[in-house]
Amino acid sequence: MKDLVMVAILAFSSIVAAAVPHKNFTTPDRNFTLHGVTKPWANDTHVINRLTGKPMKHFVNWSNGTHFTDPATNRTVKHFDCDVGQSTASGHFMATIKKLHKDHKRSAIGSRAAKSLVDRSRVTRPFQVPVYIHVITGTTDAAGFTQQMANSQIGALNEAYNPYGIAFSLSGTTFTQNDDWAVGDGTSMDDAKKALRTGTYGSLNLYFHSQLSGGALGTCTLPSQVQAGMPQSMYYTDGCNINANTMPGGTMTGYNLGKTAVHETGHWLGLLHTFEGYSCSGDGDLIADTPAESASTNGCPINPWKKSCPDTEGDPVHNYMDYSTDACYSTFTDDQVQRIAVLWTQYRAGM
Ligand SMILES: [Zn+2]
Repeated sequence: MKDLVMVAILAFSSIVAAAVPHKNFTTPDRNFTLHGVTKPWANDTHVINRLTGKPMKHFVNWSNGTHFTDPATNRTVKHFDCDVGQSTASGHFMATIKKLHKDHKRSAIGSRAAKSLVDRSRVTRPFQVPVYIHVITGTTDAAGFTQQMANSQIGALNEAYNPYGIAFSLSGTTFTQNDDWAVGDGTSMDDAKKALRTGTYGSLNLYFHSQLSGGALGTCTLPSQVQAGMPQSMYYTDGCNINANTMPGGTMTGYNLGKTAVHETGHWLGLLHTFEGYSCSGDGDLIADTPAESASTNGCPINPWKKSCPDTEGDPVHNYMDYSTDACYSTFTDDQVQRIAVLWTQYRAGM
């Protein structure tokens, strides 16, 4: 398994390195195929995300783009990338959260001090999300992934979300051996979802790919407008695609406590990255109580504390919607929790 992961990582890093001429890497194939369409890899410092076909502007080069050295362990760790954001969101979703943000800013003036006196914010009406886990492996690496890991993954979701009144229950697990789907490149990711997706728009489908393409840890869809009773064929792409080595007990250094699924599920519930927009100005993630953050986090930089914007007390490195390592994640903010509650009711409850 490690060899397969390394092959994926090396394949990706050689593509990244191709943008840096002074480095002595083999020039890779400059084209890739997404949804049946062949596209060139971007040049200069931009790399195309193989999952979405969109450029990853902050994926600069080998040394600070794909990997970093974690000072806590002195080990080389992958950079978390998932490329979910405004560019992958539907117009309906963006209009909804922009309005929520605007209304909240109007009503929230003066309430911050009072809020800080309350314990961790919970959703007003606790809710439970049915989860279908799909473990997709190649024909030679299937033995590395077990039902116990799937069960532990649900445990990791509940550990993260239960304090906020949100629970997850495992409704079913499937195990599929398919060498193409295990990578999820090109059209095979959609093919896998079309074949495996189960339940309604209110059911979370997590696809764990043993060799997820593009060096990604995971990606996910944001909520979008679906009418009650609409057939699943209309929304079969809904769900999260995650590297299976991030499940608890997996082999992904820095990310094997199941928190990648917690992060991706945050997107599924409607949250953007805390560094959305990569800027110290503007509306960022459209959440009022997360500080402005102009750069995503690697590892867990708390000594000294990472601070990418001058007018904040520091970056939200412990927030599940940053790119920190698993052990660093511990929190959602009050407004993120309230946003999840509103969007759950609007988009997914009762579907
Ligand atoms: Zn993400």
